[in-house]
Amino acid sequence: MPHPRLPHWSVRVRILAAILAVTALAMIVTGGTAYLVQRDRVLQAVDAHLVAAVESARVVVTGSRSTDPDGTAAPAVAAGFTDARTALEAVLARVLPTPNQSSIGILDGVPTYVSALETDFHLEDDSAFLGRVVTETADGSVRLGTAESAIGNLRYIATPIIVPGAESRGLFVTAYDMDAELAVITTAFSTYAWVALVSLVGIGLVGWYVAGRLLRPIRHLTAAASRITATDLSQRIPVAGNDDVSALTATVNDMLGRLDASLTAQSQLLADVRHELKTPLTIVRGHLEVVDPTDADDVQSTRTLAIDELDRMSGLVDEIGLLADTQMSGALHRTQIDVADLTEQVFAKASALSNHDWRLAETATAVASVDAGRITQAWLQLADNAAKYSAAGSLIQLGSRMRTADRVEFWVLDEGPGIPEGMEDRIFERFGRVDSRRGIQGSGLGLSIVAAIAGAHGGTVTLQTSPSGSRFAIDVPTAQDEVPQ
Ligand code: ADP
Repeated sequence: MPHPRLPHWSVRVRILAAILAVTALAMIVTGGTAYLVQRDRVLQAVDAHLVAAVESARVVVTGSRSTDPDGTAAPAVAAGFTDARTALEAVLARVLPTPNQSSIGILDGVPTYVSALETDFHLEDDSAFLGRVVTETADGSVRLGTAESAIGNLRYIATPIIVPGAESRGLFVTAYDMDAELAVITTAFSTYAWVALVSLVGIGLVGWYVAGRLLRPIRHLTAAASRITATDLSQRIPVAGNDDVSALTATVNDMLGRLDASLTAQSQLLADVRHELKTPLTIVRGHLEVVDPTDADDVQSTRTLAIDELDRMSGLVDEIGLLADTQMSGALHRTQIDVADLTEQVFAKASALSNHDWRLAETATAVASVDAGRITQAWLQLADNAAKYSAAGSLIQLGSRMRTADRVEFWVLDEGPGIPEGMEDRIFERFGRVDSRRGIQGSGLGLSIVAAIAGAHGGTVTLQTSPSGSRFAIDVPTAQDEVPQ
């Protein structure tokens, strides 16, 4: 039963959704990680450049490097200069900016010097930013920071240039335009995003096609199954390829075959039974209609006839039950049977059946995997027929033998009238009888039961007949795995 709350998505859509979700997730994680790593690298490189610029400024004004490892702790104190103006001028002339970088020298809060080189952007254009930097460094400290300015997103460093004894204060500011610095990886990442999107669409199309192809036999299966009704089981689903879906199709076809066969057998049996029961019923009814209730003799003979017909009918019903059991349930209780023992047991039972010259002709020495009960039943049926259709006192032989290394034969040979030509197949059909022997009671079901039992064992019933006798034999494999499934 479908879950009421789940949306009704076909398997194809679900497979595709899963593929796309996993692929998209993998692409986002991969691309995102690569972007963050690259971005971090750029940020670190920019900071290293900024610190190096301050370091250079310090070298320019003091002639020596700072002892501080990251170079941002102390402002540059100019020893060889007399005032901040000349010190600042020297720094701006000597510490040159790289691409996307711009520097400025601020003297007493007023932007005074710019770099000797032309730069991509100009810090003097943004007085708000400069004002902020001046305030931040008022306490004389070096400041490394980030600012959203009118120029763009800036990463900057500012260091006071202090000349001992001089009154004016210099401030060296250098900054990177981070938008421009990150532009390369941003472009690379947006290219990656487009390629990923196109790949995703490609994977989606291929996935849709492949899932559709793989599921096509299942769609055929559904269509065929919905076409097939209990009255028409003749359809089969075309098996394509050699994979699990085609194996499933073959299995369903097999199942349909078995269902078809069993339904056909069932309806055939019903038709036969109706036909066979009609005759005794008509006979009984005909006699009852014309019986004279005042005539005691007439009543008596009609009663005898009716009981006779009813006995025949109940015998028929019993045999139909047996046949149906064998044909429809088909379940055998196989055990390892000693064929010689079985032969002796069946011979003992058969010889008690009638007044004939019963003889045990041969005994096979073998072990067979068969249903002993069913084989005995079939073999005794053959013996009973032999007794029924041959003259009292005549010779009836019975025996078992290995027909090949892995097939055993249980046979009965009589000296009866044989089966007339052309009737050899007919007698194995349900209710099939030889007309001229109507005198002998029988339903015509005995040999069909024998054939059904042999068939259930994966074997057959063979017949050799002549006007001087018949030989019926049940021929079955000794091992179960030779039975077609
Ligand atoms: P039934 O014996 O009840 O008629 P069976 O299916 O056993 O039904 O046999 C079918 C027909 O085959 C019989 O009516 C009979 O004519 C013929 N038959 C079977 N066994 C023999 C036999 N041993 N000798 C001659 N005819 C036989």
